[in-house]
Amino acid sequence: MNRIRPAAPQLASIEPYDPKYIPADVMISANENPLDVPFEIRREVERAIRKVPFNRYPDPLANELRDMIADANGLERNQVLVGNGGDELLFDMALAFGGPGRTFLNMPPTFSVYVNNAQLTNTSIVNVPRRADFTVDEDAVIERLAQGDIDYTIVTSPNNPTGDKVTGAFVKRMLEASDTLVMVDEAYFEFSRYTARPLLEQFENLVILRTFSKAFSMAGVRLGYLLGSEAALREFKKVRQPYSVDAVSQAIGRVIYENRAKFEPGIDAIIEQRARVIDELNKLPGVTAFDSQANYVLFRFDPEIDASQVWQSLFDAGVLVRDFSRSAGLENCLRVSIGTEAENTRFLDALKQVVVR
Ligand SMILES: *Cc1c(COP(=O)(O)O)cnc(C)c1O
Repeated sequence: MNRIRPAAPQLASIEPYDPKYIPADVMISANENPLDVPFEIRREVERAIRKVPFNRYPDPLANELRDMIADANGLERNQVLVGNGGDELLFDMALAFGGPGRTFLNMPPTFSVYVNNAQLTNTSIVNVPRRADFTVDEDAVIERLAQGDIDYTIVTSPNNPTGDKVTGAFVKRMLEASDTLVMVDEAYFEFSRYTARPLLEQFENLVILRTFSKAFSMAGVRLGYLLGSEAALREFKKVRQPYSVDAVSQAIGRVIYENRAKFEPGIDAIIEQRARVIDELNKLPGVTAFDSQANYVLFRFDPEIDASQVWQSLFDAGVLVRDFSRSAGLENCLRVSIGTEAENTRFLDALKQVVVR
């Protein structure tokens, strides 16, 4: 019997992505919106899907949806690109701007997908770690960019999993420091009310990543988009899978985007619950919650409490959160997504059972 020959060498150090997303009563581990798309919008979605011809290839660039997004952002069609989730566009970024002999500047701890994509494409990684309070070391980043050898960088605002956002002044400094392609990953911007969008008027080396997965309750459908200069997006178009965004997702996306104002009350509720969860976490002995501008909260335990044991106890109580305790810089930390009021109560009650003895 033949064995399989080794895969590409850069895969040897990579673990397949596994967020340990196992069923639980209260699923608050993946930063999803706790509420599904409202019923009346779902009905409209179903009507739209009925009209989709399944035997035809989709519009490769999802132009109708692109135009809607462009209009809403005061941009032209060629300044918008739609992808199969934000994740596809992150991968395309590494394919188009990374590669052997090229360099990505990362600001860990942050979204692990960036490093994975760099490794897959044999891109060198330069790390400028965040400070102990997880704020970006701004001067160090600017200094490193100014050396001129960084091909692309991603700054996440709000950052996943730490929750902090960057300032417009810092993004502007990054864009001025060199011609490096700068992505601002705004997957959670709806919860932070800050966007780098105004800087698109001035800078060709800026792209902004957004997604339908979080604020718009669409993690199951896979739609993300970029806002950026025509010149930058042209390179993304060269590497993307031609039909990555299927016709059904496009149809759903158009209905959701048209109805996006209806998601605002849900976003407000999450912002309100976020303040409550942070407050309650900080009242618990041995627990420190970090401030958050997103729909999740990172919290750390004092050394006498073992975070992964707490994770297990929460899971045994039917509550699934995300364990980051073995990630560099996030030692003894867990992350909880903001759920409905009832889900948050269940999480906080279960946690009290574990840490208050
Ligand atoms: C969720 C997320 C994305 C994109 O997710 P998709 O579901 O692929 O659109 C991008 N960046 C960060 C930091 C995220 O947390």
